[in-house]
Amino acid sequence: GHVENPYSGATGYVNPDWKAKAQAEPGGSAVANTSTAVWLDRIAAIEGANGAMGLREHLDEAVRQDAANGSTPLTVQFVIYDLPNRDCSALASNGELRISENGFNRYKTEYIDPIASIMSDSAYSNLRIVTIIEPDSLPNLITNINKFADCQEANGPGGYVDGVRYALNKLHAMSNVYTYIDAAHHAWLGWDSNFGPSVDLFYNTVSGTTAGVDSVDGFIVNTANYSATTEPYFTINSTVNGQSVRQSKWVDWNYYVDEKTFATALRSALIGKGFRQGLGMLIDTSRNGWGGSARPSGPSTSTNVDEFVNDSRVDRRIHAGNWCNQSGAGMGERPTASPAAGFDAYVWIKPPGESDGSSEEIDNDEGKRLDRMCDPTYHGNELNGNNLTGALPDAPLSGRWFSAQFRELLANAYPPI
Ligand code: BGC
Repeated sequence: GHVENPYSGATGYVNPDWKAKAQAEPGGSAVANTSTAVWLDRIAAIEGANGAMGLREHLDEAVRQDAANGSTPLTVQFVIYDLPNRDCSALASNGELRISENGFNRYKTEYIDPIASIMSDSAYSNLRIVTIIEPDSLPNLITNINKFADCQEANGPGGYVDGVRYALNKLHAMSNVYTYIDAAHHAWLGWDSNFGPSVDLFYNTVSGTTAGVDSVDGFIVNTANYSATTEPYFTINSTVNGQSVRQSKWVDWNYYVDEKTFATALRSALIGKGFRQGLGMLIDTSRNGWGGSARPSGPSTSTNVDEFVNDSRVDRRIHAGNWCNQSGAGMGERPTASPAAGFDAYVWIKPPGESDGSSEEIDNDEGKRLDRMCDPTYHGNELNGNNLTGALPDAPLSGRWFSAQFRELLANAYPPI
C-alpha cells in the first residue's frame, strides 16, 4: 500500500557501503548506523560501479534489515540522478548522458526502465522505497537558461521536463515507491523572481504526467547544500536600527533566511497551485548543522545590519551562493520523521563525507570536471558575489570519499555528536 508519509513509524535503511567508510574514520562509529541515501548516479551504478553495491543488492539487504526489525516497516532512499545534460550550470557533477547524443532515449531505456523493473520485483513489495528525483535539474531551468547553453538545451525536448515526467510515470506506478522532487534551497529560489516561476514549472511538469499531481509525494530542499534548517537568532522580519535584515549583504533581498521557512512557504504555494493537500516536504540535514566553536550563541548586539546578520547567523559560509565542500560545516539534525507540520522528514540524502567536486582537475570517465567553485583559491563570480569559495582543499571527484571533510562534519555537528 501507499501511506501518506513513508517515514512515519519506519526505520531507515543503513547503506553498508557508507557505513563501512564512516566507521573507518576516527569517531565515525557514532554516526555509522545513520540512514543515508543511495545515489544511482550513472547507468553502471544500477549493477554496482567501482566495487559499490548495485540496486538489487541494496534492496536485498534492505529486505534483510527489514526482517531483523520485526514489524517496523523499512524505508530505503534512492537518488535518481542521471538526466541528460546533468548539472547544466556547474561542472563538478556533469554526467554521462547528453541530449544531443540520444541522451533522452538512453535515460529511458538504459536507466529508468531497468531501475523500475528491479524495484517492481515482488520480493521488495514490503519495503517503502523513497526516490529523490534529479537534484538541481528543474531549478536550473528557472535561473540558468540564459547563462548556460547546456541548460538552454535542457529546457527543450528530451530535456529535464521530459526526463522528470518519464521518471515519475515509471516510479509512481509502483504503489510502494514514493517520489520527492528536488526544489533546490532558499538561497537559490527564495527571491520572488524565482519562487513563482518555480512553482509554475513544478506544477506544469507534474501535471503533465499520467497521474497528474498524484504522481508526487512531496518535495525536498537542501540536497547537497549547506543552508541551515533554522537560523535561531533572527528571522526575515528582524530589523536592526530600523533596517530590515533583507537589506544585509548576506540575505541580499531574499524572502527567506533558512530552509524551514522556505520549504513551508513553498509547500503552501504548491498546494495553492493545485498540488495535493497531503504534500510532504523533506529537508536534507546531512551537512547543515553548523556547530563547533564558530557557532554564535545568541543574537549579535550590533546596530549595523550587515554586522548583525554576519555575527548572528549560524550558517558560517562566506556567501550563501557557495555550495562546494564548505569549510566549517557540520552534520545537522539526524534523520527524523514528521519533525514539523507539513514535513515528512529530515533526511540525510547527501552522504556526509562524499565530495561535492574536486578542487583540481582530475581525469575520469564519468563526465565530471573541475568546477572552480570547488577550488579554495578561486575568487568567485557573480553567482557568489565574487567571493572566495570557502571550499576545502585537496578534494577528490564528486561522490568520492573525502576523509578530511567527514572528520570536520563530525567535529562540527549540531546537535553535537
Ligand atoms: C556526485 C555523485 C554522487 C553524489 C553523492 C554528487 O555530487 O556527482 O556522483 O553519487 O554526489 O555523493
